[in-house]
Amino acid sequence: MSDTAAVAEAEKLVEEAAGGAGETSDGPRFTLELNQDQKDIREWVHGFAEGVVRPAAEEWDEREETPWPVIQEAAKIGLYSFEALGQFWADETGLTLPIANEELFWGDAGIGMAIMGTSLAVAAIFGQGTPEQMGEWIPQCFGTAEDPKVAAFCASEPDAGSDVSAIRTSAKYDEAKDEWVLNGQKAWATNGGIADVHVVIASVDRELGSRGHAAFVIPPGTEGCEQGTKVKKHGLRASHTADVHLDDCRVPGACLLGGKEKLDERLARVREGKRAKSQAAMQTFEASRPTVGAQAIGIARAAYEYALEYAKEREQFGKAIIENQAIAFALADMKMEIDAARLLVWRAAWMGRSGHRFENAEGSMSKLKAGEVAVWATERAIQILGGNGYTREFPVERMHRDAKIYTIFEGTSEIQRLVISRAISGMQIR
Ligand SMILES: Cc1cc2nc3c(=O)[nH]c(=O)nc-3n(C[C@H](O)[C@H](O)[C@H](O)COP(=O)(O)OP(=O)(O)OC[C@H]3O[C@@H](n4cnc5c(N)ncnc54)[C@H](O)[C@@H]3O)c2cc1C
Repeated sequence: MSDTAAVAEAEKLVEEAAGGAGETSDGPRFTLELNQDQKDIREWVHGFAEGVVRPAAEEWDEREETPWPVIQEAAKIGLYSFEALGQFWADETGLTLPIANEELFWGDAGIGMAIMGTSLAVAAIFGQGTPEQMGEWIPQCFGTAEDPKVAAFCASEPDAGSDVSAIRTSAKYDEAKDEWVLNGQKAWATNGGIADVHVVIASVDRELGSRGHAAFVIPPGTEGCEQGTKVKKHGLRASHTADVHLDDCRVPGACLLGGKEKLDERLARVREGKRAKSQAAMQTFEASRPTVGAQAIGIARAAYEYALEYAKEREQFGKAIIENQAIAFALADMKMEIDAARLLVWRAAWMGRSGHRFENAEGSMSKLKAGEVAVWATERAIQILGGNGYTREFPVERMHRDAKIYTIFEGTSEIQRLVISRAISGMQIR
């Protein structure tokens, strides 16, 4: 090789190693270094969480009401908007969405859910709607900065929680009017009844179980869609949770997400005994699990940071309690478990965004680990604060109450283990 050729070759290698924007011919290179956009968004959301969300957390937890003024503040700065969600989603590494969620929920989980609850309905419209349906309904889920609205995703029912196939809410097609008629009762819906847009999972053919489900948008003000009982909760109390009743609720044919032709094709495939490509509720959960995991990590990190500072300040037996290994090691374990959970969340978020198949249920793994770490770490934080940790004068008690839901909703820990064990074994574990 001539000198010039060798120099050119070396330059090429250096260029490739530097990787420009981190790209190789096979796609983004593996790195845990966040790019400037990701850092900027993290800082932006953190600033809002610290300056607006945290100071309001205790009040809205006590009031057990939707914190509309805080949602409005988030809307004013553009954090509560479809543009922001779109920007988070646009990051092709998949990390911005979990990063933003972690920061917001670090501020407070109840208020965090009041702000992010809408995104479950948005994910359903985004995942299953046609481009026209996305354009029509996603902006309506948020309203405007002056008059923000929220949206609800209604899958669960009194007799269909973990067992989504037991959904009884029915949707019948009235061909003469090109309308769908929905009847049934939804349970536990975040923003249920106070939402402008409700996305409802209903059965169009009960014999097909979950393969006979479809997702419908219920437009604002539709008759026959009413809030039922609002539930009083252990945690996440600034987030509204309620039953939703559907009584002869008629929606235009165009409200079926994905359209009738696609539904008919899917049902025909199932009736012929072929595999359905997707199940309405499952698709939404699959995509949202790492994001939900990130919320749990936000709570765990907040409790860990609080406990760490407390342990350095609080003195007993003439020294800071952190000088005892029992306390210091607990904090070391908390930090390690939180970081491990975050890595699982980031992996699943990256896999989901870059189109890698969840062959070993990596989405479920991330949510399972993060939820269990959040419950465990917040309990440890209470222990480190002693009596103070058990009172409402200190925030770790609220964080522990908030964390518990993360082993229950979006698939309980047991259901996540079922999904993982089925994926790794290929067997019908029960
Ligand atoms: C605050 C809150 C917000 C929510 N938000 C929404 C929402 O916005 N939209 C929505 O659709 N739903 C929502 N839910 C509902 C939530 O997803 C369900 O509560 C959850 O799926 C569990 O269902 P379940 O409560 O009926 O429990 P069940 O299914 O009755 O489970 C009870 C227990 O049995 C276990 N179990 C069940 N089946 C098995 C099995 N096969 N193997 C082993 N163990 C099993 C479970 O793990 C659990 O420990 C929300 C719930 C809460 C509490």
